[in-house]
Formats: sequence, structure tokens, C-alpha cells
Amino acid sequence: TQPLAEVDPEIAAVLGQELGRQRDTLEMIASENFVPRAILETQGSVLTNKYAEGYPGRRYYGGCEYVDVAENLAIDRAKSLFGAEHVNVQPHAGAQANVALMTALMQPGDTLMGLSLAHGGHLTHGMKLNFSGKTYDIAAYEVDPDTYRIDMDKVREKALEAKPTMIVAGWSAYPRQLDFEAFRSIADEVGAKLWVDMAHFAGLVAAGLHPNPVPHADVVTSTAHKTLAGPRSGFILSKEEYKKKIDSAVFPGQQGGPLMHAIAGKAVAFKIAASEEFAERQRRTIEGAQILAERLTAADVTEHGVSILTGGTDVHLILVDLRHAELDGRQAEDLLHEVGITVNRNSVPFDPRPPMTTSGLRIGTPALATRGFGATEFTEVADIIAQTLKPSPDVPALRARVQKLAEDFPLYEGLEGW
Ligand code: PLP
Repeated sequence: TQPLAEVDPEIAAVLGQELGRQRDTLEMIASENFVPRAILETQGSVLTNKYAEGYPGRRYYGGCEYVDVAENLAIDRAKSLFGAEHVNVQPHAGAQANVALMTALMQPGDTLMGLSLAHGGHLTHGMKLNFSGKTYDIAAYEVDPDTYRIDMDKVREKALEAKPTMIVAGWSAYPRQLDFEAFRSIADEVGAKLWVDMAHFAGLVAAGLHPNPVPHADVVTSTAHKTLAGPRSGFILSKEEYKKKIDSAVFPGQQGGPLMHAIAGKAVAFKIAASEEFAERQRRTIEGAQILAERLTAADVTEHGVSILTGGTDVHLILVDLRHAELDGRQAEDLLHEVGITVNRNSVPFDPRPPMTTSGLRIGTPALATRGFGATEFTEVADIIAQTLKPSPDVPALRARVQKLAEDFPLYEGLEGW
């Protein structure tokens, strides 16, 4: 019962400093969010003590009667939120969900077709140093060099040529919706299974603002912590026919004891995601990204070589293209950091600069929408970013504008010492 500050003052200091950083800066990393207090409570609870290998009602440990309730709630809520036949809420993270899915439905040496990492795909969709790239033959598709969108005719051509076992539709850096029906029909035509990785846009799907992949895909994987604003973790949705294979690929296939505090947190997140308040927040998230896109395509910005891939967005993020700008991705990320806005540099398709430098920025709005930002605040943030990316920005003045927004929208009030 001794508080952290007494047991370990160094780690207590880290927690305090990180809380201060989250409060004083504007978080615009597209994959991040702020969980509500209810999820912090669940995650920091006694559920972290419990071993529960197995599944509800079929555990390899005693004393699981209460954690079973939590896991069943998480499963039932996810089923109803996304209209899924089967749900596994045990993956520790998105990457683990993806590995489990691949080991459940593919054999080593099979062909996996996903969006190339350089064009916005995820590491687990076939990057050569990842488990996926080492275990399977990879046939990556890319975005169109003129529109920067995924061209379904080209995906079809690639599928006909590569004859994949599995096609994955999903992305970590792409500003548009995917055409799940077209992916389904291509998968059917070539005899492949369709996997959708909705980690980024799951919150938009839950709010009905993005097409739901569940009716079209054999399997859908996701994280719970991006737009969905739940605990850092993963989950898998599938047709009933894959239930056995997926469950046994997660446990005992590649994980031991599930993280019951995280699973309970997922239950809470799915409950919140079914609310009108959550849908309203997702609407502000997309609106904010569209405001950013509009501001960063204005003439006073584009004359300095800055542009937005695809000219806009349908989702919670934009991709800034700096290939023709003086600033590279790293310099732009550092400048925004100086004014108090956190983003990540990101390679753009056909990027001439190396991955540690890059010619792009990925900027997302989920965390600020959670913080309460609406059109007025996003317009101000968009202008601060535009002014920062122009030559000779007045960093102290921009930092003061960020400070004002941060103060107007306090974060985690009363949570000192957590
Ligand atoms: N899938 C996609 C599309 C992602 O963007 C990410 C995370 O960035 C993951 C999977 C992996 O999630 P995690 O970081 O929880 O392993």
C-alpha cells in the first residue's frame, strides 16, 4: 500500500513528467489517443495479478470467475459494436493479433499480398525484417504514382499475377477509405482469403463514419488504442468458421496468460465506443483532419513546396508531402516539437530521402478531438502548423498559441500522482 512516489521516486518522476508533457503539448501522432480515467483505473487495477490461460469457462487456472465476466463482456460488446460472429480479445497488441491471424490461416511459404510499408502499409503486412516478411512470400501492392490512392485495377492485376493465399487491406499511413467490396471480389476471383487490419480506423467504423470491413472480410484485426481510444492492445474479429483456428493460434499458439487488466479495459472501451458521445468525437476527429488538409493546401503554404497527399482526407489523419519543400521530415518534426506539437515524420510513397529523414509528416487528430477540440480549435492548430512549416517561423509566438490551447483544454484534471 506504499505509494509509488515512496517506493520508486525515479519512476514516479517519469509518470509526473509524462503527464506534464501530455498536458502542455498538442498530441498529433495519428496512432495515439488519451484513454479516459475509467480505462486508466481498469489498467492500474488488481486484474493485473490474475493468471487466466485459456478462455472463459475453460481456464487452466482457478479463481477465474470474475475475470471471465470481464472477458465475456469484452467479447459480447465487440461482437455487437462491429457485427462480428467471433471475437478474440486476448492479443497483447496489434502486432500479436496479426501474427496469430497469419499463423492461424497461412502456412510458411504462402503468399501474402499487402500494401507496401513505403506506401503506408504496416510492418506486419510483409516488411522483410518482420515475422510476416520472413515467413511468407510477399507480393506488395503500392499506391498509384499520380493519385497516391490505391488503384483497385492494379491490385487486381497484382493478385492475378501473384495468386496470394491472403490479401490484407489496411494501413498505418493512408488518408482515404478502402473499397472492401472490391478487395472481397478480387480475393474471391483469385481464391485468396481477405484480412482487413482496421487498427487505425476502428473508431471511425464503430461510429459509423467509415465502411465496416466485417461483412466483407474473412478476418479483421485491430488495435484498441488508436481512434478507438482503449487500452494499448489488440483484438481479432472473424467469421464463426475460423473461431477454433484463431483461438488456438492466440493461445496456446503464441501467447501465454492474457492481460486481464487490458481485456477489462477493452470491455470499457467497447462500451464507450457504442455511445453517441463517442460518435460525436469521431465526427470532430474527421472534421479536424479536413480542416488541417484545407489549411495546408492554401497558396501561402504550397508556394513553399508543401502539399498534402491525395489533396485531402476521409479519415483521422493527413500526410504532408515535403518532397518539394526545403524542410525534410525530420526537420519539420523537430520544428513542430519546438512549438509544442507532437507528430511523426513519415516516408511518403516514392520518397527520395532515407527512412530516418523522410519527406513527409503524418498528422492525426484523434487525441485532440478526445481532448475536446472542435472546428475552432482545429482551425487554430492548422494555422499554427502552416506557419511553422513556412520559412523563418516565429517559434516563441507559435509556442505561446499552443500553450493557450493546451490551457483552455485541460487534460486529466485531478489525476496528479497517478
Ligand atoms: N496494424 C496497423 C495497421 C498499425 O498501424 C499498427 C500500429 O502501428 C499495428 C497493426 C500494430 O499495433 P501494435 O503497435 O499494438 O503492435
